[in-house]
Parts: sequence; structure tokens; C-alpha cells
Amino acid sequence: MRPEIAYQMSQLAKYLSREKGIAPSSLRHVAIVRRSIDARQRQVYVNLTVRAYIDEEPAAASFEPIIYPDVSSAPSAIVVGAGPAGLFAALRLIELGVRPIVLERGKNVHDRKKDLALISRTHAVNPESNYCFGEGGAGAYSDGKLYTRSKKRGSVDKILRVFCQHGASLSILADAHPHIGTDRLPGVIESMRNTIIACGGEVHFQTKMTNLLMSGRQVCGVVAGGREYRGAVILATGHSARDVYHYLHDEQIAVEAKGIAIGVRLEHPSHLIDQIQYHSAEGRGKYLPAAEYSFVTQSDGRGVYSFCMCPGGYIIPAATSDGQLVVNGMSPSSRGGRWSNSGMVVEVRPEDIPAMLPKEQYDPASPLLMMHLQEHLEHQCWLMAQKTQCAPSQRMADFVSGRHSSSLPATSYTPGVASSPLHEWLPPHISQRLRHAFTVFGSRSRGFLTNEALVIPVESRTSAPVRIVRDSLTLQHISTPGLYPCGEGAGYAGGIVSAAVDGERCAEMLAEEYARMREL
Ligand SMILES: Cc1cc2nc3c(=O)[nH]c(=O)nc-3n(C[C@H](O)[C@H](O)[C@H](O)COP(=O)(O)OP(=O)(O)OC[C@H]3O[C@@H](n4cnc5c(N)ncnc54)[C@H](O)[C@@H]3O)c2cc1C
Repeated sequence: MRPEIAYQMSQLAKYLSREKGIAPSSLRHVAIVRRSIDARQRQVYVNLTVRAYIDEEPAAASFEPIIYPDVSSAPSAIVVGAGPAGLFAALRLIELGVRPIVLERGKNVHDRKKDLALISRTHAVNPESNYCFGEGGAGAYSDGKLYTRSKKRGSVDKILRVFCQHGASLSILADAHPHIGTDRLPGVIESMRNTIIACGGEVHFQTKMTNLLMSGRQVCGVVAGGREYRGAVILATGHSARDVYHYLHDEQIAVEAKGIAIGVRLEHPSHLIDQIQYHSAEGRGKYLPAAEYSFVTQSDGRGVYSFCMCPGGYIIPAATSDGQLVVNGMSPSSRGGRWSNSGMVVEVRPEDIPAMLPKEQYDPASPLLMMHLQEHLEHQCWLMAQKTQCAPSQRMADFVSGRHSSSLPATSYTPGVASSPLHEWLPPHISQRLRHAFTVFGSRSRGFLTNEALVIPVESRTSAPVRIVRDSLTLQHISTPGLYPCGEGAGYAGGIVSAAVDGERCAEMLAEEYARMREL
């Protein structure tokens, strides 16, 4: 379909009547089942699968809602972290008859907002309440992109249906690249919390887990907020809980270093991306959504790729404590902002570290090596920002050709930007590959490599720098049973949906273990 038909239900109904010979009065309703955009040619088309209701009323809902039972008197399990992995683990535990006690170090999703505003206004980062910590986790103030490379279609569809049951738009069930938007996510997250509490579960905010309770090598609970909570533990603390990684390592609970990717955020005016991607001087026009892009190349033996693109979105300060400058991206449901940004990141392997980390911080044997690299680069960036969140930045073409930027374009990044020669001080492992990759991307998409775009470092939290090693069958920690390392922080997910899927899997394994223990 042309966009003007695909995005106007009245036009779509007319088209169906005409093409399929259905009398307009018989066509009671049209529901969109799948929708994707094909922008490969000059004329952009929208591929649609629709369900047409002819002389019959539409089905009440396009999915069967889950009935969550009352688990007030069921055995309890502890879920540490209320990000997507923790929340979906808790809901799945309820489905399986286990009572979840969710412990979250940050504030509830609404109170969190005030701390986010303070980062931009005062440049102070609350170490317990920020873009990564608090109800909803790192996914709460994001783009809410819900697509994943996961091949487990059944599991992914289930996650999308749970989101819809808690208030997300039904369009996420149809769109090839579904997203919820940062303005809608808080309501959805709050609704999930209400389900957990209504079923007899518990949710505690500002309750940080400080240590595990052990009986020999068996984990039997946690200490959080100075109180003991007993039960098996799903540990879903995300990739930014560095204190948790330190704690596990100090307690000799096996963790290992994991490859990561590090780079920058790149921001273009959204109309420019629309013009390039939709091959039209008019850009997206009246009907199409803000355009997306995806790039990947190899540079000197390492992958360089775009990551977490936010069309019509904002660049945000994603540090989790003072002394760091980290950027990420989010967008509202409308994706109607003036800019489009993405992470542009370079693969980093353990053998790349010596060139990037000061000698005194380099310990090749440490499983926390990659995390130390993240910390070092984030701190460097903060120092270059004169110890503020005002990001050192450079125009894109200047960065590629090694020129200082005498002025900077307007940006969505509210703490502000200051011109800085990134090509001179970012580690060459990253800057040289990015400069090469930007040239490649510019040759693939005319207009992409431009001084209208801004480069802002550092995009360092693309995934967990550490894996918390678990058994692939039971999903319990390899040497510490009763502990279920879960989600992105444990190194088993990357993104909202895969974290949610992993949360469900951990809940299933835990419930199975409880059932087995009951039988003994
Ligand atoms: C700004 C931003 C935008 C993003 N956009 C997208 C996107 O559009 N699509 C996408 O798929 N992914 C996106 N991501 C990534 C996505 O958010 C993560 O992959 C996902 O949230 C990981 O889920 P998780 O539950 O494993 O961990 P997290 O979401 O990180 O949740 C971990 C939770 O544990 C809590 N916690 C940590 N330590 C403790 C402790 N000791 N005690 C108690 N609680 C603790 C934290 O406060 C946090 O709430 C984005 C991330 C950011 C930061």
C-alpha cells in the first residue's frame, strides 16, 4: 500500500471494498495484523496483513489476557531489580503459583522523574535514582523499542501481549518494529506493579540488596534495606549495578569478563534522516513515521555498528553516579522530536584493553576488566566536560576529517554540549574505527556524513561488561545454587524484550525447583 492508504483506516477500508469486491456496508471492521515499511525504492510502500470482518462483529480483544492467580499464601521467592527482567520474572512467578517479593534500589517510576530532571538542571546524579536505576529499570525512560533478534517468536509474542494487557498500544502486536515510547512506558510499568501487588506479591522501593544470605554454598535469601528476605533469588540488577559485580567477585561467586561495544551517540536533524531514508525532499510526509536506519561495517578487524536508534528522540545523560559522563537515547511514542540519534559503537575485546586503560588499572586476570574500561572512559569524558554533564562534542564531518568544530548545531541533549576535538582524545581503537565507519556509512547513504550531525561521547553501557556464570539447564548460578542470575546484568540478554524473556525463563526454572523440593 502507499502510506496514505495504509495509515488511514477509511482509505484502507475503501481500498479493500474496491479490490476484494466487498460491499462497504458489509465491511464492519479492519484490524491490522502485521505492518512493515519497505523504503528500498523511491516509492515507499507499507506491507500490511489485515483481518477484515465481513458481516460479523470484530473480536473483543486480539489476544487472550492472562489470568493471574492469588498467591498470597504461596511460597515466596525474591526478585532483585524491577527492570524488565525482574518485572516479567515476578509476573511469571505469579502465573506459576509462587509469591514474588520484588526489591528495587531506586524509586517508583513517577518519583524517579524528578531525579532525571535534576541531572539536566544541576548536573548532579543520584546514585540510587537515575536513567538506569528505579522502577522499570533502564528500560523505563527509553525508546521502548521492542524488537529483538530472538528467534523464539512464541516467547516474544507473549511478552508483547503482557505489555498490551498492562496498557501498551495494540499496535505493538502488528508493527514489525514495535515501540512503546518513553511517555507511555511509566503507565505500563505501574500497571504491572499493581498486578503483582493485587495478586499478593510485594514490591519494595529504595530497598537495595547489599548481600546474599547463604547456607553453605546455597543461597537462601538476601539482605536489603537492612532487612532479611528469605527464598530463592532471581538476581536481575542490570548492567550498571557495579557494586553488585564487586560484591559477587569479592564473595568468590563466579563472574567472568564479557566482550562489549563502546562508542558515541550520533545525532542528526530528524528531517534529514527522513529525507535520506525515504528518498524524498519532503521527508516523511504526512503519514510515515520518523525514519530509522541501521548500519554495520568492519573496520580493522572489529565490528562497528549503529545501536539503539531513536528516531525523533532525545539524547539523555545515563550516568549512575557523579564522576561519569555516559549518553544514551530515548524517544516518545510519537517519535515527533526534531532530532534522530543512535549509538555508533565499536566492538571491544579483552585483548584491546591494554591500549585503552592506564597501566595501573590494567589487570588482565580480573573478570571486572571490561567494567574498569567503561569506568575509565566515562570518567575521562566527565573530566573533559569540566566535571559536569555538559558533553564534549564535535560535528560529524569535522570528527572524520580531524578538524576542530568552531560552533555546534542545536541538540536534544539538555545538559548542554561544548566543542571538543574528540578525534584527539578518544582512544584511537574507537575514534579511528568510527571515523572510517562514518565514511563508509556516508558513501552508502548520501547526506548521512554531514556537519549538521553531532557526535557525543561516550556510549559505554551497550551491554553487561560481566557475565554471572549460570548452569545452562537449571539457570542457577554455576557454583551457588538458589541464585538465578537473570537478564542483561547477568550477561544473558540485551534489550527490553530479551531481558523480559530471560526473566520468564528464570521464573520457570525457579518454580520447577520449588515443585521438585515439595515432592522430596
Ligand atoms: C536510556 C536507555 C534507552 C534504552 N532504550 C532501549 C530500547 O528502546 N529498547 C530496548 O530493547 N532496550 C533499550 N535499552 C536497554 C534496556 O533498557 C535494557 O536492555 C533492559 O532494561 C535490561 O533489563 P534488565 O531488567 O535486565 O536490567 P535493568 O533494566 O537495568 O534493571 C535492573 C534493575 O535492578 C535495580 N538494581 C540494581 N542493583 C540493585 C540492588 N543491589 N538492589 C535492588 N535493586 C537493584 C536497578 O535499579 C534497576 O531498576 C535502553 C537503555 C537505556 C539506559
